[in-house]
Amino acid sequence: MAKITVIGSASMDLVVTSATRPGAGETVLGDSFKTVPGGKGANQAVAAARLGAEVTMIGRVGDDSFGRVILNNLKGNGIVADYVEPVTDMESGTAHIILAEGDNSIVFVKAANDLVTPDYVDRAAEVIQGSDIVLIQQEIPEETVVHVSDLCAKYGVPLILNPAPARPVPQSVIERAAYITPNEHEALVLFGEEPLGDVLRRYPNKLIVTEGKKGVRYYDGSQEVIVPGYKVEAVDTTGAGDTFNGAFAVALAEGMSLSDSLDFANRAAALSVTKFGAQGGMPTRREVEGGAL
Ligand code: ADP
Repeated sequence: MAKITVIGSASMDLVVTSATRPGAGETVLGDSFKTVPGGKGANQAVAAARLGAEVTMIGRVGDDSFGRVILNNLKGNGIVADYVEPVTDMESGTAHIILAEGDNSIVFVKAANDLVTPDYVDRAAEVIQGSDIVLIQQEIPEETVVHVSDLCAKYGVPLILNPAPARPVPQSVIERAAYITPNEHEALVLFGEEPLGDVLRRYPNKLIVTEGKKGVRYYDGSQEVIVPGYKVEAVDTTGAGDTFNGAFAVALAEGMSLSDSLDFANRAAALSVTKFGAQGGMPTRREVEGGAL
C-alpha cells in the first residue's frame, strides 16, 4: 500500500444558506445550517484514503467538541490520526461559510491549525521519513512549510506542495518540492504576470497548473502538455482541488507515470464535483476505475 503523509489543516465548516447576505449591522433570516468536517489538509487526507492509500495526517485540533468530531471523521475514513493532537485551551479551526445569492463568503479562523509548528512536525519525523510521498498545503504557518520541505529534501521523500490558499511561496520551497499544484489564481500569486508558458518551462515535470474542467497543464521538458479534464454534470465544485491533490499523491506513490497520475487525479476530481460537499463527493477507488467516465 502507498504510504502518504498529509501535513495540514483540519477544521469544521459551519455552513449557512440564506437568500440574502447580511450587510454591516444587519440581521437576515437563514434557511439552513449544518456542520461538516473540512480543512484542506483533512480533505486531501480523506481523498487519498478513499482511494486506497495508507494515510497518516499531521495536524492539530482544539480540545472542543469540533475537535472530537474532526478526529472521529479522520479515523472513520481510515486515516492514522495519532499526530492530530488536541491543543489544551484552544479552539479547533473553523470556516464560517455563508452561501447566499449564488456565491459564498467565508471567514476562516485558523485557531489550532496555527500550532502545526516546525517543532510539532519534528515529533513525527520518523513517519515523514517512512513515507512514499508527503502532501502539504498553506493553511498552516509558512515556517512549517519551509521546514517540511527541508525535512523531505534531507530524507529524500518527494513533496507535493498544493499552494492553497494563495500566498507567495519562498523560493527554497519551490526548489525543493517535487511537485507544485496551483490553480490558475494561485499560479498568478506565486509567479506574477510572467506568461504561464515561460513559468512552466522553468519548472518542467514539477509545476502542474490545474485549470478547472479543462484539466491540467505542465511542461514535460520538450513541450507543453495538457492532460484534459473529464466532462461531467458539475453539482458542487467545492473540494475539486483537494480531491485532485489527494488522488495525485496516491497515483505517484503507487509508481504511476506523471501523465497517468494526472489523468487519475482528473478522473477522481471530476467524479467529486458530481456530488455535494468537499469530502461528501470524494470517490472510492472502485468508482474511479469503474469506467463511469
Ligand atoms: P480548485 O478547486 O483548487 O480551484 P480547479 O478548479 O483547477 O482547482 O480544479 C482542480 C481539478 O478538479 C481540475 O484540474 C479538474 O481535474 C477537476 N475539476 C474541477 N472542476 C471540474 C469540472 N467542472 N468538471 C470536471 N473536472 C473538474
